[in-house]
Amino acid sequence: MSDDHASHAISAYGSRINQTPNLDRIATNGIRMDSAFCTNSICAPSRAAILTGTYNHVNGVTTLATPLDNTLWTFPKSLQAAGYTTGMIGKWHLGHGPGADPAGFDFWQVLPGQGHYHNPVMLRPGGEIVERGGYVTDLITDDSVRFIDQCRDQPFALFCHHKAPHRTWEPAPRHFTMYDDVEIPQPATFRDDLVGRSEVVQATRMQMMDLHPIIDLKAVVPDGLTLDEEIDWRYQRYIKDYLRVVAAVDDGVGRLLDHLDDTGLADNTIVVYTSDQGFFLGDHGMFDKRLMYEESLSMPLLIQYPDRVAAGVTSDDIVVNVDFAPTLLDLMGVAIPEDVQGRSFAPILDGETPDDWPTSMYYRYWMHRDGAHNCPAHYGVRTRTHKLICYYNDPLDQPGAHGPIDPMEWELFDLVADPLEINNVIDDPAYSEIRADLGTELARLQAEVGDEPYPS
Ligand code: CA
Repeated sequence: MSDDHASHAISAYGSRINQTPNLDRIATNGIRMDSAFCTNSICAPSRAAILTGTYNHVNGVTTLATPLDNTLWTFPKSLQAAGYTTGMIGKWHLGHGPGADPAGFDFWQVLPGQGHYHNPVMLRPGGEIVERGGYVTDLITDDSVRFIDQCRDQPFALFCHHKAPHRTWEPAPRHFTMYDDVEIPQPATFRDDLVGRSEVVQATRMQMMDLHPIIDLKAVVPDGLTLDEEIDWRYQRYIKDYLRVVAAVDDGVGRLLDHLDDTGLADNTIVVYTSDQGFFLGDHGMFDKRLMYEESLSMPLLIQYPDRVAAGVTSDDIVVNVDFAPTLLDLMGVAIPEDVQGRSFAPILDGETPDDWPTSMYYRYWMHRDGAHNCPAHYGVRTRTHKLICYYNDPLDQPGAHGPIDPMEWELFDLVADPLEINNVIDDPAYSEIRADLGTELARLQAEVGDEPYPS
């Protein structure tokens, strides 16, 4: 798993801006899931949903501020109990200390919090601090190779969790000059003025001009640029570092795949590549995630398992991050606890989508207008054809919020006619019936997962 790697920066997903030959190997050898979504597009909450198979109002990690209670059930705990040697290496980001350290792992060595790209420290059980020299993605890969070597004669489950390509996008020295001589294409919605979208979305601080020149872009803005020219310049600085950092992840994945091949483990090893959520790569003029728009909502999900999953196939079935835990347990023949909310999509990997497979998903982002991103809390439903989003705009949540706070605002997108989500048709009479149906579906899903409408 990587952190903030959007699927549109993976060539197997048709990236227009980079090549990821090693990630593409997983797609070539296995399945590419095209409708994998997170249920909350932010780091710690998505990680908690993946590990526990439950939504954030159940596992308690609704925001970045809450650690994961490490007494809760997670699927690595079941794997460990079933005889797998389990290892967690790299980004944990679910808290530290007695109640929050990684649990259910025979071995763990993780970054504190976000960690550093260069010469990071890592934490081990008992608060032991290990100083490391080198580049974080390479070190996590080194540790993962070593773990495999130590465990290869027994069943093992390795969680290789990269920090990259999370902000602040600091490349490995070998990638410092990559893309220097090219101009990266801008996305189709780069100049989206957000007209017609909710006021709180227009007030978010996730535009190119909200990037910090020194910290994020490692540069001083050149003199004499017009606003449009500066926005273009900022995009190139931003996206090139993002893609350089991705390049090291791709290198690391290649090393792991090579190692599985070389050791003869590849055929009966399940390899999953995903990211905790997507990311805006200049889409709608933005960086970051949080919003329920496609680029942020979508997770890359590539799975190879030569003994079972056909090579080079794709699926458009909707799966969500809470489905990962039951699916992996199912594939390994380990019992799935009753209170897991996700559902195993192993049948989809076998090429047999169940007749009653869900055709909609529920989303909720809980952090309301933090000072840095000013992104509103919201919930919504995505079907195979439409998306309904409710920004409930709680005026009591964030007294420091920037911009207007209006009563509840809604957005509705027709993903067939408008896949880029430019036209909010919430007030279009032609969509009144669809809006009503989606409202009903949102309420149904919210009740099904045990969440409640705002205010509650
Ligand atoms: Ca993340």
